Amino acid sequence: MKILFASHNLHKLKEIQSLLPSFELLSLKELHDNDDVEEDGNTFAANAFKKAHYYFQKYHLPVFADDSGLIVSALNGEPGVKSARYSGLDADYHRNNLLLLKNMEGIKERTAFFVTVICFIEESGQVHFFEGKWKGIIHEQLQGDNGFGYDPLFYLPELDKTAAELTIMEKNQFSHRALAFQQFSRFLKKHYPCF
Ligand code: IMP
Repeated sequence: MKILFASHNLHKLKEIQSLLPSFELLSLKELHDNDDVEEDGNTFAANAFKKAHYYFQKYHLPVFADDSGLIVSALNGEPGVKSARYSGLDADYHRNNLLLLKNMEGIKERTAFFVTVICFIEESGQVHFFEGKWKGIIHEQLQGDNGFGYDPLFYLPELDKTAAELTIMEKNQFSHRALAFQQFSRFLKKHYPCF
């Protein structure tokens, strides 16, 4: 069974293909599709659904989309759904991290979690959601060169490392994205055992 992954991010596609080895993922690139769906929802689930639904309507194929971000308790859940564009129009990973550090200055309660929500729409149109969370602490300074996004500030007390000090293999054992995709993979294996 071919499943369409509603993302233009080829790096992500590769990572996710390795988390779902039994299923053949079809990319938007293979369909020569350059449409962009604005992620303007108030929740991760709303954004994931919006992307999946757009391409489901267009291609009538089984399709999934994901949306992730960082939730910091002391900042009332920010950066949240705005994680990618936290520092505004010129946002990039480094600027976002510097803004997060600034907003956390003097704050002792530094608990946070990453979350990934996957929305899968079956060929019948039935909609399913899968979620993974990863708890950590916002570090006082950037540490580590691996990973991306907020990884250099996401400290894991039990490992005494930030997420940016983990290898991809290590990150894939714990991360919000890996957990969500494990659930999705379990669902697919149960409901589509012939694939
Ligand atoms: P996306 O929905 O997976 O594109 O994630 C949106 C944003 O959340 C990214 O641009 C990052 O800023 C942040 N983010 C999501 N997952 C991670 C992660 O595993 N590490 C660090 N930052 C992440």
